[in-house]
Order: sequence, then C-alpha cells, then structure tokens
Amino acid sequence: MTGQPRVRIAPSPTGEPHVGTAYIALINRAFAKSQNGKFILRIEDTDQTRSTAASEQAIFDSLKWLGLTWDEGPDVGGPYGPYRQSERTEIYQRYAQILLEKGLAYKCFCTKEDLAALREKQEKEKKPAQGYFAQDSPCRKLTPEQIKEKEAKGEPYVIRLKVPDENPDALITFYDHTRKKEISRKYSEIDDQVLLKTDGFPTYHLANVIDDHLMGITHVLRGEEWIVSTPKHILLYNAFGWEAPKFYHLSLLRNPDKNKSKISKRKNPVSLRWFRAAGYVPDALLNFLALMGYSRSAEGKTKEEISSMELFSMDELIHEFIPGRISTTGPAFDYNKLDAINDAYTQKMTIEEFCAYKDERLKYLMEYLGPLAVETKNRFRRLNKEIDDITGFFFKLRLSYDCDEFNKIKMPPAEILSMFKTLKKTFKDKALLLNNPADFHECINEISERCGYSSKSIHMAIRIAASGEGESLPLYESLALLGVYRCISRFDDAGEALEKHIKERKEK
Ligand code: GLU
Repeated sequence: MTGQPRVRIAPSPTGEPHVGTAYIALINRAFAKSQNGKFILRIEDTDQTRSTAASEQAIFDSLKWLGLTWDEGPDVGGPYGPYRQSERTEIYQRYAQILLEKGLAYKCFCTKEDLAALREKQEKEKKPAQGYFAQDSPCRKLTPEQIKEKEAKGEPYVIRLKVPDENPDALITFYDHTRKKEISRKYSEIDDQVLLKTDGFPTYHLANVIDDHLMGITHVLRGEEWIVSTPKHILLYNAFGWEAPKFYHLSLLRNPDKNKSKISKRKNPVSLRWFRAAGYVPDALLNFLALMGYSRSAEGKTKEEISSMELFSMDELIHEFIPGRISTTGPAFDYNKLDAINDAYTQKMTIEEFCAYKDERLKYLMEYLGPLAVETKNRFRRLNKEIDDITGFFFKLRLSYDCDEFNKIKMPPAEILSMFKTLKKTFKDKALLLNNPADFHECINEISERCGYSSKSIHMAIRIAASGEGESLPLYESLALLGVYRCISRFDDAGEALEKHIKERKEK
C-alpha cells in the first residue's frame, strides 16, 4: 500500500467512554497527522443489546473535549461511509454470501444445546474448549440437500468461517509492528468463528475486517487484547483475497499495583466523563496518555530540555512522532502522576485561561451531576460550602474515614462491620443490575428486610462509607453516580477503617 496512511479507532458504544479509547485515539491521531494521513472514527455497534445512542454521544463529546478530532466519522461523514456499523448490515451480508459461494464459509444449524454438548466433549478430550473446530463440526459435512431441507423447515442458522483444515499444524503468521516480531498461531487453534449471527447481524470479526478493507485502512493500531483475534482476521483477509493492513498492538494501560492488572472500572474510575468532571485539564490528560504510549527521544537534547521532556503537547507529539517509539511495555496508569502533570498545566495558565477553565469545569460538573446538580447548588447556598467540598467524594480515589462518624449509627460496631460485608457481597452479586438510583433503593431495602437492619442504620452506614460523612447529597443518586464498583471498594475501605477503630478501642 502506498500513499498517505489511513488509520481508525473503532470503539463500541457500550457504557461509559473509556480512558483507554482516548489513549488509542491519541496514538492513532499522532500516527496519521505525522504523515499527513487521515484519522477515522468508526462506531462498532453490532452488539445491538448493549449499544446505546447516549454512549455514542459520550464518545464524541469526550474525544472532542480532548481535542482528538477525526477527519471522517458518523457525525462528519466522509467518502467511505456510513461509519456506523449498524447502518452497514447489508454490506456484511453481501460479503458473507460471497464466502459461502466460494465454499470458504458454511451455514451452521447447531442449537445452543448442540454447542453445550460439544463443549462437554471437548473438555473430556482435554481440547481447548473454546469453540467450534473443523474436526468437531457436523455442519461442515452437510450436503446441499440437507441444508435446503433445514432451511425449508425454517431452522435458524449462523454463518461460520471454514478454517482450512488440510494442514492443522501449519501456522498463520502476522508481523506485529510494535513488538517488531512475527506472531503465529496454528490453524488447529482457530475455531470456525461465527461471521453472521442468526439475526443477520455480523460479529465483530467479520464487520471489522470488511470495514477496515472497504475504508482503505492501511494501519491498524489497537489494544493488545486483540492480538489473539488478529490471526482470525488474517484468515478472513485471505478468504476474501484482500491485502491485510499493517498491525500495531498497543500495550494496555495497567494499574500501578504489583499485579499490573489491566485498568478497569472495578478498581478505579476510567470514564472520560469522570476525568472531565474531576477537573483535569484536557491537554494535561493528553500529555499523561502520550507519556504512557510513546517514549520520546532524548538525542541531541540539553540537560534542561531532558528534565522538561515530560511535558509536551499533542502538536509536539505529532511533530516528532516515529512509529518505532510507540511503547511496548504495559504503562502504569498512575493517578498521582496525572495529578502532578495536571498541576503543571494549571501553573502555566494565565489568570484568564484559569478562569475560563474553571468556568468550563463547573458547567460540565453540573451536567455530570445530573439529578444531583440542583441539590449541590442549594447546599452551596444554604451551607455556605464550596462546590468541591460538597461533591469531592466523587472525585477522590480513596476516602479517609473519621471514626466518630460510625458512632452515629445505632448499632454495635461488630454488627456494622458485618453489615458492610453483607452490602459488599450483595452489591457484587447484583453488580450488573445496579445502574439507576431506583435499583440501589430496591437493593438496599431488600438487604435491610432480609437481614433485619433498621432503615436508618443501613442508610447511615452506606452514606458514611460512600461519602466519608454522615451528611451528604441524596444517597441513591450518589451511589448511582459513583457506580457499583466504587461503592463496593468503599464498603471495603470503610470496613477496614472501622475494624482498625474497634481494635484500637480494645487496646485502650
Ligand atoms: N470494537 C472494538 C473495540 O471496542 C475495536 C477493536 C479494533 O480496533 O479492532 O475495541
């Protein structure tokens, strides 16, 4: 492929806009702009049950807030649209048909029960029980008559890729440009992946490959969690007879703890809306992400220049960007470091810039608070408290607990402790069901009835754990905004603080 590069990000609009999306977007944009290329935003909303318009809008808004604008996309159009996969269903169906006709894909009529039985068999045979492999597939062997018969009966089917099985030990290989090495998997390790589901919607693999090809994508720069999928994609490119783009897999952002686990909402806030509401300066967040994704060259720099090398703008990144310097080690997402960088940016601001930033932040904070905005304003007036004092508990990673607060709960401390454990377990079990204030309300009532806790005590305990104080913004709305996983970690932290308090009292 010659000419200017065309790169893309392809987020799925499910849930909150993730900081990882901004990180991948930043590297893609720098890659494109440094070579006079195009940066494209494609919305991968093939999962119709989880995709929402609100989530898509939040991706647009958050990336724009960071200045990570795109040249082509669902909102701005472009010559290769539509850029939203749900509007391209016919295209995928047409291409799946081509593979069927070439004999490189097949209709699979297996039911859920058939697949469960297959998994069981694979487990017994100690095969990697992850899918539907050539040798296990009864539907590969169906005659055209049998297929017709099943179709006439209206049996639902999916379309699967027919992974070549002539030489199961042969390798499918691609070159990973970030790691600068070849990565291979055996044909026998690749399952006959579903391309088109029973409802006629494509899977990620089919839609992603077709779109990257039709949109003229020359380089795919995406998170390393997709490395396992790339051989499947190579098979698809081969089946269609298309040249594959060049692949760069970017290291995932990781927690700065011992395990270096992938950052996730289970541990810390990762929503771009949270970073914006918390008051991070967009350029500071970009700078922080760039530091993690790109290692600058110190060559030819003076000592002073090297010591200030941590601070750089998107324009500087574009100016000096060399793909070979994309980081290959899992960068640690250190919130303290981000705070330090943010500090450096506010220090650089003029008073006018500072006022504009504060105004923008306050406006956005009110939007973020949603149903809590009015009460925040009223408390500001009534209690003469600063907005950050009223809403700060949403933006602190960990709270410190004043143990006198726990004495306000009319229950023995050991029982409060066990209540925190019950709360944690129930919230964990119901995590996927706890989204709106009403969900939290119902769940807390259920716990209080089941365990015989007085409504007053359980509410007070939750309030202290969640906000660090015995008086705070309306509870259910606050829990919904914090999100279930941060509530769970606050029950843990509050429990720990209380336990320490009990121990200290005993020792006295
Ligand atoms: N839709 C995928 C995601 O949500 C895109 C992965 C890719 O870039 O190929 O991350």
